Amino acid sequence: MSKDNSSRSKFYLDLDNKWTAHNYKPILVVIKKAKGIWVWDVDGKKYMDCLSAYSSQNFGHGNPKLVNALKKQLDKVILTSRAFCNDAMGTAAKKLCELTGYETLLPMNTGTEAVESALKIARKWGYEKKGVGKDKAEIIVCENNFHGRTITIVGFSTDPDTYTGFGPKTPGFKVIPYGDAEALEKAITKNTVAFMFEPIQGEAGVLIPPEGYIKKVQNICKESNVILIADEIQTGFYRTGELLACQYESVKPDMTLVAKAVGGGVFPVSGVLSSREIMAVLTPGSHGSTWGGNSAGMAVLEAVCDLLVEEDFSQKSKDLGKYFMDGLKEIQKKYPEKIKEVRGRGLLVALELSEKARPYTEALMNNSPIGVLAKETHEFSIRFAPPLVITKKEIQWALSIIDKVFAEVN
Ligand SMILES: *Cc1c(COP(=O)(O)O)cnc(C)c1O
Repeated sequence: MSKDNSSRSKFYLDLDNKWTAHNYKPILVVIKKAKGIWVWDVDGKKYMDCLSAYSSQNFGHGNPKLVNALKKQLDKVILTSRAFCNDAMGTAAKKLCELTGYETLLPMNTGTEAVESALKIARKWGYEKKGVGKDKAEIIVCENNFHGRTITIVGFSTDPDTYTGFGPKTPGFKVIPYGDAEALEKAITKNTVAFMFEPIQGEAGVLIPPEGYIKKVQNICKESNVILIADEIQTGFYRTGELLACQYESVKPDMTLVAKAVGGGVFPVSGVLSSREIMAVLTPGSHGSTWGGNSAGMAVLEAVCDLLVEEDFSQKSKDLGKYFMDGLKEIQKKYPEKIKEVRGRGLLVALELSEKARPYTEALMNNSPIGVLAKETHEFSIRFAPPLVITKKEIQWALSIIDKVFAEVN
């Protein structure tokens, strides 16, 4: 880091280093304040946030409508547990279901929990509705998947950094190539209960499947009586231009998993969306979460749904995403030996480099007087996913900094 050693940042980085687990390799910026697309570090330097907490901040840091909804709720009641009922959960669930076209919501807190919940529902559905033999249920997932960090989920990851040291793997999962509908057809057996996939693989570096893939996998699942589960935790809520990325192919999966943006960047909220019929396998006592459906999170969820109705994020994400990608393609033409590919959909965009990405993300951060915060995914790609409230002019500025950094870094 090219920061002076006496800076305040250094003080906090040393604290982190000494007192917390080293399970991340963050960009070394210590943020103390954020508003919209901008964040400020403890030394007062300003940066554009081009990561949005992995799409959690789709509506901008500290979005006033969402912060106010949370503040209002905090003064009333925050958490009762599901031992009792509250006046926020049903209201929010109705709005989210009506918005997404689903019949029912299982509210949870983090993305990982939504994924785990869906896997449990799929297995139970397999035994009770499909007639799969005891403990024989199989779930199919894709190579390069990212679905979270629990012991079961990392067991079907194909990324050694994610699974190494955490065995034995939970049985009952099969991994097939991403974007290959035929591979799914071949992998399905009479014991297959579900196929879970990301409509665009975000953590893998914004990998987009071939046109028609989502429709094909839906048809294959329908024919074989297999539940289709879309993990929209990163792609949902207009990040890729549509409310849900599966809507690009007019597909409504049997289950959709939401988190990140659904908490508006102000509170952890996640959920499983599905039909009443599938969700009915969950009976009292079979699943739960102390914080799932809490009043604070549900008040935020309701406000997020209202925001999505009031403001047009779709056109913004599509138009600005195209503008951003066109600009990046111009930059690619100038540095073809450094940039292999520009890809993306909506405002989920990535550069694939022919060399390591870290020097570029660090140079973007160090740009003076205003930095750009982006993060490499794996070693060779950089993801750009600014809050959807960004403007064309601000993207233009970001492009000029990206251009400058590619000219300077060797
Ligand atoms: C972030 C993410 C998760 C996990 O969500 P957490 O809230 O970190 O547990 C799962 N799936 C996808 C696609 C994600 O991007």
